[in-house]
Amino acid sequence: MQLRFYNSLTRSKDIFTPLDAGHVRLYACGPTVYDVAHIGNFRMAVVFDVLNRLLRHVYPRVTYVSNITDVDDKIMIAASERGEDIVTLTQKYTKIYNDDLRSLKCELPDIQPRATDHIPQMIKLCEDLIARGHAYVAEGHVLFHVPSFPAYGGLSGRSRDDQIAGARVDVAPYKKDAADFVLWKPSTGEQVGWDSPFGRGRPGWHIECSAMAEAHLGLPFDIHGGGADLKFPHHENEIAQSCCAHGHTHDLSHFAKVWIHNGFLTVEGEKMSKSLGNFTTAQDLLAKGVKGEVIRYALLAGHYRQPLDWTQNGVHQAKAQLDKFYKLLHAQEVLEADIPHTVLEALADDLNTPKVIAELNALYNAGDAAGLKAAGALIGILQDNPRAWLGLDNQADGDADWITDLINARAAAKKAKDFAMADSIRAELLNQGIVIEDTKDGTLWRRG
Ligand SMILES: [Zn+2]
Repeated sequence: MQLRFYNSLTRSKDIFTPLDAGHVRLYACGPTVYDVAHIGNFRMAVVFDVLNRLLRHVYPRVTYVSNITDVDDKIMIAASERGEDIVTLTQKYTKIYNDDLRSLKCELPDIQPRATDHIPQMIKLCEDLIARGHAYVAEGHVLFHVPSFPAYGGLSGRSRDDQIAGARVDVAPYKKDAADFVLWKPSTGEQVGWDSPFGRGRPGWHIECSAMAEAHLGLPFDIHGGGADLKFPHHENEIAQSCCAHGHTHDLSHFAKVWIHNGFLTVEGEKMSKSLGNFTTAQDLLAKGVKGEVIRYALLAGHYRQPLDWTQNGVHQAKAQLDKFYKLLHAQEVLEADIPHTVLEALADDLNTPKVIAELNALYNAGDAAGLKAAGALIGILQDNPRAWLGLDNQADGDADWITDLINARAAAKKAKDFAMADSIRAELLNQGIVIEDTKDGTLWRRG
């Protein structure tokens, strides 16, 4: 089976040849855990989960590493605003993130390294970069000296002017060059920090991925992924750090061979932002009763490299499609089957999920339930019990509507943190002989 991926580094769709066909190594930049993750974060998670599933189908062993950024200025600000320590805060949001991943039918990465567990490796990288003349210490900072790496900018194709504008750093008189970026920065008394040869401080963001990818995958490794917004400066800086620390100043592929970037996500045609009031989280959607698998399907409806517009309509369409497929799975006895070749070919061609979905519809139209279910497994859908999905076990009776209304009202009350109201609705349902159960796919009910 031949896989082809668009490689941001070569700017072409290339045949994928792993460094070791017995063990494929994949890294994707994970979330900074200071708040609940938004739907754009989960686009990345779902895309790389599908890639991971495809690689596992083709190769005997895959190691998928995706980091958790648990030290960062945004985390420090959020922790102080909420009066929590950063460990409590980051553990809370890591758990929510992983719960959301499970709801969206993502397999958790094999390794989820945390930045704070890799401080010695980051310090070592800083020291190596200083020793090779690619970094310097200034006023408690360690800075990467961009002009020391002439190949800098090769991934994003940014000109030097863009690099400086894109770096958007505060005026820093200690910098030798405007494009230089921070590897390590000093911490004051109350700020979180670690002792280092450069003074007490904490890492800059970019250095953590260089350290963790090398620690868990070795260099070079096969595929590095992340959102397109990370291409510059984050991924450019990861390459600079990792290549230069090992003396590879001309070969950008000495860190990762293939770079895969997923496109931006907008909401109803607009950039998602808290100020526009369209900030959409998986938590919100799940609380509204949108099933995780519906969210997943809607995220896969567009090609991963294209921008994706998240819309109400898209969610409705995703649900209607999945309902339709589950009805076929329910109507037939579904036997074990191989993944249909049409589906595998579509996914092997640079993760062409819109083509996969077209092929799923072809299988549906042909009445091939077994093929449909096997194909669904490849992209992480259609593995639920069809009766449960369709709600046939408990909602066949005529009065399901008022029960659903009450369940929705309870979900709304919980979301508004009106737990007294939520409890009273549950009690009312129980009074009527209805037992409800909150599951990852929403609230189910039965006559008790
Ligand atoms: Zn990263």
